[in-house]
Amino acid sequence: MEETGNQFVTIYGRNLIPELPIFVHRPYLIVTMADLWGKFKQYFDKNLAGVYLVRSLEFDDLTKDLENLPYSNCVIGLGGGQALDVAKFIAWNKRLPLFQVPTSMTVNAAFGHRTAVRFESKVRYIGWAVPEAVYIDFDVVQQAPKALNRSGVGDIFCYHTALFDWKLAHERGKTEAKWPYDPWWAAQSERVLNSVLEKVDEIHDVTEEGIRTLMNAHRWGGATFHNAGWNPRHIEGVDHFVFYSLEYLTHKPFIHGQPVCLGVYVGSEMQGNRAEEILNAIYRVGVDIRPEAMGVTWDDVGQALKKLAWYVDQAGLWYTIASEFIVTDQFINLVRERIESVYGTWKG
Ligand SMILES: [Zn+2]
Repeated sequence: MEETGNQFVTIYGRNLIPELPIFVHRPYLIVTMADLWGKFKQYFDKNLAGVYLVRSLEFDDLTKDLENLPYSNCVIGLGGGQALDVAKFIAWNKRLPLFQVPTSMTVNAAFGHRTAVRFESKVRYIGWAVPEAVYIDFDVVQQAPKALNRSGVGDIFCYHTALFDWKLAHERGKTEAKWPYDPWWAAQSERVLNSVLEKVDEIHDVTEEGIRTLMNAHRWGGATFHNAGWNPRHIEGVDHFVFYSLEYLTHKPFIHGQPVCLGVYVGSEMQGNRAEEILNAIYRVGVDIRPEAMGVTWDDVGQALKKLAWYVDQAGLWYTIASEFIVTDQFINLVRERIESVYGTWKG
């Protein structure tokens, strides 16, 4: 078998933002965040049709705003996941060429076809956008906060738990008819996971090699949902379900990779799946998975874990270790002890 779906054209380099006004279709619309615009507006010229500052991801808000956008002949997404997602949404609705410029390594939004929008706070992935190119500027990414950049490993480390879950479901006869276990896709996912595990120190230091490694992994990961036939089995499992349960319970905003990495570690403990090794990798790359580092408490995490099986069931999510593992107080204590033995106890 070979991989037949495409991955987005991705360009690495320097001084890439000042080049944009020279070649993008004019006039151009920029989609970014308020805090980033001040930093980058100096690079754009009189052909700027306007700038759309993201303030909501709700479908109804976005649809309303579409009517008030200035006339433009292309869309430039500039920023993190939210800006890139909204840029996709606008490009999809207006059928405009899209150029994507991730300013950090947090998520794979630049590389996926669908856009994450909220319907009354519930995330759904809809639409279709293939950018002309994704531009990754080393200097720009290196200027983003290191913790944000490092957190990007969450959406790759989760393959570790997702692959176990898919196989487990297969062994239990619980895979979904549309997503039967496929060792070929599992092997691709494992290859990408290993490429990142081999470079945790480079990613920690946000070196050029670290940036290339993690962003190439995101490039594969963003496209593979589509390329595997809209199948997320080899890239997402209990790892994200822990995060969803925690988010449902606390309604707090998170840096995606933190609770996902917590889910990767806790999930691998449930699975008996090289938990110590993955915890050390998460620590070494510099993602803090202590609840306090995410503005929640151990109590919240304990509750989210105890409600995990229920959450997964009512949300209609797929079969993973979460559906069969009984979370006890002892288990929660063990997870806490092991995390604190690596990170130390939280000092505030
Ligand atoms: Zn994710």
